[in-house]
Amino acid sequence: MLSYQHAYHAGNFADVHKHLTLYAVIDHLLRKDSAITYIDTHAGRGLYPLDAEETARLGEYRQGVARLWQGRAGLAEDPLLGAWLAALADVQAGSGLDRYPGSPWWLARRLRPQDRLRLFELHPGEHGHLAGQELPENARRIHGDGLAGLLKGLPVSTPRLCVLIDPSYERKAEYGEVAEAVLQAMRKARHALMLIWYPLLPAGRHRALLEGLRDGGLRKIWRSELTLAPPGEEDGMYGSGMLVVNPPWGLELRLEDAMAFVSPLLGEACRHRGDWWVEE
Ligand code: SAM
Repeated sequence: MLSYQHAYHAGNFADVHKHLTLYAVIDHLLRKDSAITYIDTHAGRGLYPLDAEETARLGEYRQGVARLWQGRAGLAEDPLLGAWLAALADVQAGSGLDRYPGSPWWLARRLRPQDRLRLFELHPGEHGHLAGQELPENARRIHGDGLAGLLKGLPVSTPRLCVLIDPSYERKAEYGEVAEAVLQAMRKARHALMLIWYPLLPAGRHRALLEGLRDGGLRKIWRSELTLAPPGEEDGMYGSGMLVVNPPWGLELRLEDAMAFVSPLLGEACRHRGDWWVEE
């Protein structure tokens, strides 16, 4: 079953949370020259025109990235938000907000000649869109299963590895499968930095992911959750979660500062919480 298409949700509050965290992590990694392999296990299309039928239908970006875009003059004083919004402005075709870039674009944009990028996408249509996009030569697009591809490709030839795992969680079992794949991958690449996104839904299925990682013995897992409403008040997704395994030093403060600007724009009840899920 592959019915999920990210185009319906592109640029929503969860994308903002996920891609700001990713941007902050890449910033830290780029402080050193040594080469990095990035692996994006669930890449999606890459670039989403906001007037596309699917994206315009739900218009989730209006309650997400559009709020930051409208308020960008007041956000530029935060270094992370200022840089992120400048990058977002660069990808626009005109002077307004007309496209939202997905993870392949955020990763490819900052790829240096010594780095590598592997983008996995299983959906034939989504892979087709991704394959049609202009990306640097050291970015490989692979039509296949991202978790299996991740494990098969380890260890990597570069000194550093950064992995983004961002599934659609269409199946209940995916939470446990992600935990198992992360545990296996970390055995093969102990120093890898991994970012794992998960939705906060009333059923609380993300707990299988979090508990699976903790009970599997993984250490140094930092958790960031952005909630639009307290649990129980929304029928659908009420929040967005990110786990960062082996987070770079100082990430939590940078993100906390940025989220203090972002939260009020996303809603009165919007809150950000950053803490250690499992300490060192
Ligand atoms: N990471 C993207 C971003 O930030 O722009 C969004 C990804 S979207 C949440 C999840 C994507 O995973 C969908 O495009 C879906 O087709 C794809 N997908 C689903 N199962 C997959 C699998 N087993 N391996 C690779 N991709 C998969």
